[in-house]
Amino acid sequence: MKIVMVGSGYVGLVSGACLADFGHDVVCIDKDAGKIERLHQGIMPIYEPGLAELVASNVKAGRLSFSTDLSSAIDGAQAIFIAVGTPSRRGDGHADLTYVYAVAQEVAENLKTPAVVVTKSTVPVGTGDEVERIIRDSGTATQFAVVSNPEFLREGAAIGDFKRPDRIVIGAEDEWARSVMSEVYRPLFLNKAPILFTSRRSSELIKYAANAFLATKITFINEMADLCEKVGGDVQDVARGIGLDGRIGSKFLHAGPGYGGSCFPKDTLALLKTAEDYNSPVRIVEAVVHVNDSRKRAMGRKVIEALGGDARGKRIALLGLTFKPNTDDMRDAPSIAIVQALQDAGADVVAYDPEGMEIAAPMLPNVTMAKGTYDAVAGADAVVLVTEWDAFRGIDLDRVGQLARGKVLVDLRNVFNPAEVRAAGFTYSSVGRP
Ligand code: NAD
Repeated sequence: MKIVMVGSGYVGLVSGACLADFGHDVVCIDKDAGKIERLHQGIMPIYEPGLAELVASNVKAGRLSFSTDLSSAIDGAQAIFIAVGTPSRRGDGHADLTYVYAVAQEVAENLKTPAVVVTKSTVPVGTGDEVERIIRDSGTATQFAVVSNPEFLREGAAIGDFKRPDRIVIGAEDEWARSVMSEVYRPLFLNKAPILFTSRRSSELIKYAANAFLATKITFINEMADLCEKVGGDVQDVARGIGLDGRIGSKFLHAGPGYGGSCFPKDTLALLKTAEDYNSPVRIVEAVVHVNDSRKRAMGRKVIEALGGDARGKRIALLGLTFKPNTDDMRDAPSIAIVQALQDAGADVVAYDPEGMEIAAPMLPNVTMAKGTYDAVAGADAVVLVTEWDAFRGIDLDRVGQLARGKVLVDLRNVFNPAEVRAAGFTYSSVGRP
């Protein structure tokens, strides 16, 4: 089957490489010529475990190629995926659909052979209708259908998630489109991955509902963590105690500095806007967005408190900058608000992240980027664990104690054992634990 993937970012490149690995003939398109040039040279534009190997083997097998030219690539393609960004629109928080509609327009102008146009980008309810209208209005004479197929992969575990998904959601309005999509995902059907065929609008909403629910779960446990700190409870025990209830489930109950990343912040906001437009408020999600926004900066205040209430002139070492481990993605990372709060309080911030520093450096121009963990902590008055990269879990606390100026450790991911850290002579604080 010939497939075109438009947008070769975190989602498009992983999806394209995995579909090629299923045996399809895939062309990944991007309008960023530098990105396509690097892909031609075998250089990955993003950090995602296992991606370089997967891309290389499928390029070698002749199933995966890259191009900036959509118009020639779509000739004969049975499925054309749209996997471009849908960031928050500046000013109002609506999903910015400029990139999606630009691709729809380009497809409309060049479509000559029957194809299913598949929106994989996260898009608000009704976007599929508009994509269909754009293509229809172009006067194309060929058969086409527009399908919604939201993506649920997690950065850092993207390939496994794509190949072994919890479910595949396909919102299609006609039988031909459903049969083409069945062919696209046939290897996964054979693996018995649950597949949900639904209407296009339901499918579009499923993605936002899923992300809003997960954001709510995180925010709930974060507030329980705050309460634990006040009443003397341990949020990890609370999470375990509620998570063992099958109706609740143990995943996504890790208290921390607030959710960030390329999806939850923008998708919760976009859902609020859809709810507003349809006069059907989603008050729980409104509260989640509000609570999470204030939490990130509050983590900066937590660090300042650990320093005795005054951070002026203090050197603070941040371990981890990306919004989670195993990615270089810095979009809406909690570290950004934490850095801001610390710098506003007069602190001097130094940071180290195993993969995120190249992207983080221009976003955090006044932060000194260290060469490694121990380089970062040298001379620091406080060390703050922001992202739980494995590399930080086994840190040598005695060495940190010798290199740092102050023995203050703030663990925003509850990675360390409080007794061990205190035994090493540190003043230790974490999230929602005694
Ligand atoms: P990204 O920014 O990494 O990639 C988007 C790519 O599209 C960029 O390389 C950009 O150059 C390219 N592009 C933009 N306009 C184009 C055009 N007209 N023609 C060709 N290429 C074009 O974004 P992403 O993180 O891959 O997200 C893509 C979509 O998937 C978003 O809607 C996002 O919400 C959704 N999503 C993301 C994740 C995730 O973990 N990142 C997970 C699920 C869903």
